[in-house]
Amino acid sequence: MKTSVIGFPRVGTLRELKFASEKYFRKETGAEELLKEARRLRKTHWTVQKEAGIDYIPCNGFSFYDTVLDTAVLLGIVPKRYQELNLSALDTYFAMARGYQGESGDVKALAMKKWFNTNYHYIVPEAEDDTKIALVGEKLWEEYEEAKALGIETKPVLTGPYTLLKLCRYTGSKTADDFTDAVIAAYQQVLEKCAAHRIMWLQLDEPALVRDLSKEDIALFHKIYENVLPCKKTVRILLQTYFGDVRDIYKDLTELPFDGIGLDFIEGKETVHLIEKYGFPKDKLLFAGLVNGKNIWRNHYDRTLNQLQQLTGKGIQTVLSTSCSLLHVPYTVKHETKLSEKYLDYFAFAEEKLSELRELSGFAENPSYTQESAYKKNSALFVADRDCKNAAVKKRLSEVTEKDYVRLPKRSERQQLQKETFHLPQFPTTTIGSFPQTKDVKQNRAAFRKGEITEQEYTAFNKKKIAECIKKQEEIGLDVLVHGEYERNDMVEYFGEALGGFLFTEKAWVQSYGTRCVKPPVIWGDVYREKPMTVAWSVYAQSLTDKVMKGMLTGPVTILNWSFPREDISIKESISQIALAIRDEVLDLEANGIRMIQIDEAALREKLPLRRSDWDTEYLDFAIPAFRLTHSGVRPETQIHTHMCYSEFTDIIPAIDAMDADVITFEASRSDLQILSALRENHFETEVGPGVYDIHSPRVPSVEEIVQVLEKMLTQIEPDKLWVNPDCGLKTRGIPETEASLINMVQAAKQIRVAH
Ligand code: GLN
Ligand code: ZN
Repeated sequence: MKTSVIGFPRVGTLRELKFASEKYFRKETGAEELLKEARRLRKTHWTVQKEAGIDYIPCNGFSFYDTVLDTAVLLGIVPKRYQELNLSALDTYFAMARGYQGESGDVKALAMKKWFNTNYHYIVPEAEDDTKIALVGEKLWEEYEEAKALGIETKPVLTGPYTLLKLCRYTGSKTADDFTDAVIAAYQQVLEKCAAHRIMWLQLDEPALVRDLSKEDIALFHKIYENVLPCKKTVRILLQTYFGDVRDIYKDLTELPFDGIGLDFIEGKETVHLIEKYGFPKDKLLFAGLVNGKNIWRNHYDRTLNQLQQLTGKGIQTVLSTSCSLLHVPYTVKHETKLSEKYLDYFAFAEEKLSELRELSGFAENPSYTQESAYKKNSALFVADRDCKNAAVKKRLSEVTEKDYVRLPKRSERQQLQKETFHLPQFPTTTIGSFPQTKDVKQNRAAFRKGEITEQEYTAFNKKKIAECIKKQEEIGLDVLVHGEYERNDMVEYFGEALGGFLFTEKAWVQSYGTRCVKPPVIWGDVYREKPMTVAWSVYAQSLTDKVMKGMLTGPVTILNWSFPREDISIKESISQIALAIRDEVLDLEANGIRMIQIDEAALREKLPLRRSDWDTEYLDFAIPAFRLTHSGVRPETQIHTHMCYSEFTDIIPAIDAMDADVITFEASRSDLQILSALRENHFETEVGPGVYDIHSPRVPSVEEIVQVLEKMLTQIEPDKLWVNPDCGLKTRGIPETEASLINMVQAAKQIRVAH
């Protein structure tokens, strides 16, 4: 049986691409060096897959930032404002991804959004009315030839035309319909060019097919592929889907002249059922996504082999595949030196998944596979329970009642009370929590970790940083202060380390966006709070200022969504366990004199099912109450903030209001403030701080620009409900731009106070 990989991580085992790119951004190296490093990484990644015996190895999955952006550039979807900078191709690309401020001009980055239900973010291509969509790039073929020159036959991967049309933003009066013909023509050319290069397989990624599809969507899909597929000549087309099942279009897919169809058997609840109901054509290959590309647990061979047998038993030509790109898991367990075998035996990261593919494909054709040692080793993992249960956690959860989910009195009363307590000016200014994580901050943490400095030294350094940060904020004139989060490597890892039930890796990085990677912890067992996590830092910070200091926590939904979850208990149960642990911390902060507490739910939307019909029952019905459980125990005067980022949430506004926070800050500057009118239409009750500038870019917003943004916000938001803040934490920024931006922000708030 052959094996296929949908996509492979691209930043490098030790984040080499990140470091090379950042060096380039800082102008410490030239483009040549960056390109060279990229070539080296591609070679490594192809070779690893080749040596693992993978048959369908992806290419064109490499990216300097994001593959959707790569596709946009390949097809000439480059807004005028970037072209007009007249930069090199590489720098134009980075300007779209990160914004540009320099000699050639001043433009913001394109919007960034979560990639379906993952924590990866893609760049949203923008089609303007006069954008001419046409094949103009070479990247796909360059990478294909590059691999070929290394003796590796690859399967190029490209965002499919349907998904591309769905993900684009149309900024003028034209809509997707107006661009369909151009997109069709461009993909026809792509296929022809693939044929000219004698490419054997082209993988077109169409994850947008796992959403709810309307009649019009299906018609559009038909129109596209009925026109594109006739150009394939000798190229075989793999229509690849992932992150769910394709129940609305399955039959159509089997009838169109694709050569292979990739289906997700892990997240696709209906996949097996669809095949049973409609069959699968004998003349096509089924790329069966049975090795989970999103989670780190070892594949249960017995179960997978059974599923493979069912398929081959039906006479289906089956290729064993990952369920989605391996981009969403770390590289390898090989660099993990601290976790014992007891744990590591249960893990399979990208490279280990390659071995799983190879072993499984061998077993699928070996009648006596049960005698193989690899099979026996795998089976042994699943016969007994892992050592991960905690009776006290179970008991406590069983004792939670309905009233634990309700905070009293109701929010409108609290808001009145809080205004009297805090005496904040109108349009209070604040930040989201973190301040720049400069080299010294990271070095201090690293030195402590390595045992090079004592705990006292570590703490003393952070205290000094906190004191400086508070002094700066006071000088800048911010109203509600933060301590700066210098003790945190990451907003989830930090909490996971202080909670029972989590495991940590050393090098298990996963790309979140561009050069930013995260190291998600693993939820190994039942979760509980072992000890206070933030109290000492917050209390110290509050002791240094007369202004209000916000306590800073991460919420249960985000902790779960940014960890690798268990597969042996439900998401609901895991979230509830974490909620109780955070509740302990919230009450502890309050008892220690902290009067505002922000509970970040940056990733709230992330696990929202891709089909609307599943939103409530499979997610919101337990995720929102879990958040309420964290704060329902505080006094009416204690102000609860929450924060969300990079997401669209226009469609879940009532659910967000039902989190019952007093204040929410969120990312808005990269999405053109579209959310504001939706807030008004939904009679949103929570006070709001839509981000007034984009922190994902080093660009400094001017006072006038922020004033304009605030004026726009005030057309939709009541003046006594509006907060003024950046759109996310400042940890990835440098100090100069941070201070300059915040000074402008405070100035803008002052001007607005005079005007209103
Ligand atoms: N409080 C966190 C910070 O400022 C929030 C980060 C986030 O939303 N991703 O860093
Ligand atoms: Zn954020």
